[in-house]
Amino acid sequence: MAKHLRSDSVVRQLAHLVPRLYNKLLPVPCFLCGVETADGPLCPDCMADLPEISHQCPLCAIPMQSDTICGDCLKNPPPQQKSISLFTYQDPVDRCISAFKYHQQLGFASLFADLLAKKVQHDYPLATLVPVPLHPIKIRLRGFNQSQEIAKRLSDHLSLPVNPHCLVRSRNTPAQSQLTAKARRQNIRNAFSCIGPPPDSVILIDDVLTSGCTVREAAATLQKAGCHRIEVWTIARAISHY
Ligand SMILES: [Zn+2]
Ligand SMILES: [Zn+2]
Repeated sequence: MAKHLRSDSVVRQLAHLVPRLYNKLLPVPCFLCGVETADGPLCPDCMADLPEISHQCPLCAIPMQSDTICGDCLKNPPPQQKSISLFTYQDPVDRCISAFKYHQQLGFASLFADLLAKKVQHDYPLATLVPVPLHPIKIRLRGFNQSQEIAKRLSDHLSLPVNPHCLVRSRNTPAQSQLTAKARRQNIRNAFSCIGPPPDSVILIDDVLTSGCTVREAAATLQKAGCHRIEVWTIARAISHY
């Protein structure tokens, strides 16, 4: 069994190394500026220009002047104990995420996992990574769950377990992006359910946190099922609650 696990881990490490080796030998154009880059999908200059969030609300990750709890979270605290996000959701981050989600540019999953791992490397809980699930119909259309792709890679970096099965999308909801805040809350209500008791401590992984309604509902579902501690880690955060 142990030998089997070891060889599984070697195969996973190789799966990450082979594309990088390939890029080193055959540089690829940076997704944003076209300059040849050895580490794809972005060149160092475009990476440096990404709109990193320096201060954010510790509960919902909305960008702030300092790391203090925002007015919305003071009025209506979310179920999660902590949230972090890498970037504000604006150009060119939105283009990178669209390329990843809708054009299968999976190099971004590795890049985003690398960056998240670096951000949390000195301070992260021993928790289970749980990707925010997509409905099976959406997975069939897209071919993969973007949050699961990030969570898998992050699991290797941080040696944390990943469980993509404990939380499921029980309703296929229309896209949140075109809806008002109230409609978003109604749209997502009861959209998730837990399969069996969830892990005691969970880190929810998602690509974009817009109004926060989706992760709030996912976190509330985990909490109701018995999860005691929840963090939410995302790649990009919209700059207002909408
Ligand atoms: Zn570039
Ligand atoms: Zn907040």
